[in-house]
Amino acid sequence: MKVPFLDLKAQYNSIKDEVMPAIQNVIENTAFVLGKPVFDFEAAFAQEHSVKHCLGVSAGTDGNHVVLWGLGVGYGDEVIMPANTFIATAWGATLNGAKPVFVDCDPESYNIDPAKIEAAITPNTKAIVAVHLYGQPADMDAIKAVADKHNIPVAEDAAQAHFAEYKGKRIGGLGKAASFSFYPGKNLGAYGEGGAVTTNDDELAKMFKMIRDHGADEKYNHEVFGHNYRMEGIQGAVLGVKLKHLNDWTEGRRRVAAKYRELLSDINQIKLPKETDYAKHVYHLFVIQVKNENSDNRSEKRDELQKFLGENEIASGLHYPIPLHLQPCFKDLGYKKGDFPASEELAEQGISVPMYPELTDEQIKFVSDKIHDFFS
Ligand SMILES: *Cc1c(COP(=O)(O)O)cnc(C)c1O
Repeated sequence: MKVPFLDLKAQYNSIKDEVMPAIQNVIENTAFVLGKPVFDFEAAFAQEHSVKHCLGVSAGTDGNHVVLWGLGVGYGDEVIMPANTFIATAWGATLNGAKPVFVDCDPESYNIDPAKIEAAITPNTKAIVAVHLYGQPADMDAIKAVADKHNIPVAEDAAQAHFAEYKGKRIGGLGKAASFSFYPGKNLGAYGEGGAVTTNDDELAKMFKMIRDHGADEKYNHEVFGHNYRMEGIQGAVLGVKLKHLNDWTEGRRRVAAKYRELLSDINQIKLPKETDYAKHVYHLFVIQVKNENSDNRSEKRDELQKFLGENEIASGLHYPIPLHLQPCFKDLGYKKGDFPASEELAEQGISVPMYPELTDEQIKFVSDKIHDFFS
């Protein structure tokens, strides 16, 4: 049985009749950039996240850039973020000329450890970015308590966490601003690149809107510096259709996660992801850790499992094999191996198994059986 890592074709087939006319409509109206489908999607997406403003942008990475730009982050500033995230979180800082400052994650939630933030704060700290990694919200109240004490804004990188909930409330409006990604493989994916920024702050929303469109408040009047980060019409139309299915798809992901839990909990060589009591996890990824405490090469067992799954036609992924503080591009920042043990352990031992709403019980059972086979 072949189990892909995700199956976008299955999803397309289930919404073909809705999505094709929506795309055709954009083309017939030649509304290729921004336009009604984008604005309608923005309004619906904002409402779903109980946040006042949503602005569609060209990618999640661009959203990371826009959020920190709008918050006034610039040259010489520092931005605190977890060491274990996708590189694009850090581009939000570097594209603004700021320096990323990394903090280790909590070994249970895999999100930034709020207890370790304060030690990273300096007079140059201009923002903290909380990433809702793998679809589980970071502990926003604890993060905001530290941030408020030092008067530093908190931004959410919600690229993996559409519809996730923190203490019963959807993410996206929990900090000063948030950025989302609609990369095709994300929980809500466009048919190309896409992203969004959200905020409850009217002034910030105005700023984001200008930055997205050449710094203009009206055509050819450029109030501030900006860029072209506009969302395409076709992406807005596709996302508008897909948003209506996201509740079902999210419940589908949670069903898959529950099934994996049921079938894998008896293997004591692996650590399953923990869903914290304050979170509704939306399982962008289901990352298990292959424990290998007594080895100099801690990733060895994980790599063997990945190879074994591959031989059985089961796709898997690593998210992410090199934490940000050990990336070659950041070597000048002076971090070294051992600085962030929980992030390094996750990088060396973590493996993502197939996760998407269309996974069948048979496929989940097959993946789980093969993992059992590997350990027995
Ligand atoms: C995917 C992702 C991004 C970047 O989004 P793109 O749309 O691919 O540019 C940013 N942050 C995190 C945590 C992501 O997973």
